[in-house]
Amino acid sequence: MNGAVVKPKSHRNLSALQQRMHKQLQSAQFRMLNESMYSTTGEESSRMMRDNPHLFSIYHSGYSQQVKRWPKNPLDDIITFLSSQKSSLRIADMGCGEARLARQVPQQNVKSFDLVAANADVIACDIAHVPLPDSSIDVVVFCLSLMGTNYGDFLSEARRILVPNGLVLVVEVASRFDQHDSESFVTGVKALGFRNDVHHPFVKSGKTQAKKSARSRRGKKKRDTHKAAPSQVENKVDTAAFFLRFAFTSTKSKTTQTTGTVDKSKLPKLAACVYKKR
Ligand code: SAH
Repeated sequence: MNGAVVKPKSHRNLSALQQRMHKQLQSAQFRMLNESMYSTTGEESSRMMRDNPHLFSIYHSGYSQQVKRWPKNPLDDIITFLSSQKSSLRIADMGCGEARLARQVPQQNVKSFDLVAANADVIACDIAHVPLPDSSIDVVVFCLSLMGTNYGDFLSEARRILVPNGLVLVVEVASRFDQHDSESFVTGVKALGFRNDVHHPFVKSGKTQAKKSARSRRGKKKRDTHKAAPSQVENKVDTAAFFLRFAFTSTKSKTTQTTGTVDKSKLPKLAACVYKKR
């Protein structure tokens, strides 16, 4: 991939055609990077980004283009939820991107981790190994960041840094899970030393949103029969159904951690989140 990379340069002297080609090339590079990060381990992605830090800005400008197409960014719901919690919380944002969470919940102590430090708030590392002591964090956030094939190592690391009864919030794109994957995902995460909190307010508010949008979709379908062409309706992304939310609480006992026999074999292989060519 190194040879194929076009470094971002000033666009000022480019013709309209060159600008269009540059945009297409960046979009292709984003999709390649994205696919590679879903099909390798965090360690390999870490090495790739360390050797070519500018790839990270290509990734994130592509990612923010994608986010603009969603009616809602799932990180906003995490921010809303955490803003309503007590200010003494210590939070780890694993795979934080540009660390917007830390900026938007300034009352809490947020540590932000990603492969590359996009700004001074971010600590560059592979989230399988974050520079934090055991039992030092109250909430761990994974917002669309369980990308590596070894994502079980990221969750295990969350278990290590969390206090007993600490909380993990996960949001992932629903299409990464096939019919039975979300059940085996939950089983797998539980085997790492967590309880699945299906009644957690963060999970419940996601379900309420999904129900509301299903209702409005049904109503809209009826109203749209005489108005919009079917493709226009189908092309709308339904955010509530598009993402899955999970809340896990770390169990009190750390026996699995201390004996070193954490069982990651129950975790399913999740599909890559592939973005369409635009
Ligand atoms: N959580 C952010 C960014 C989501 S994009 C948000 O919601 O806006 C997913 C992020 O996870 C990317 O920035 C990617 O670099 C990061 N990531 C994926 N695997 C990682 C790893 N092994 N270590 C650190 N960061 C990782």
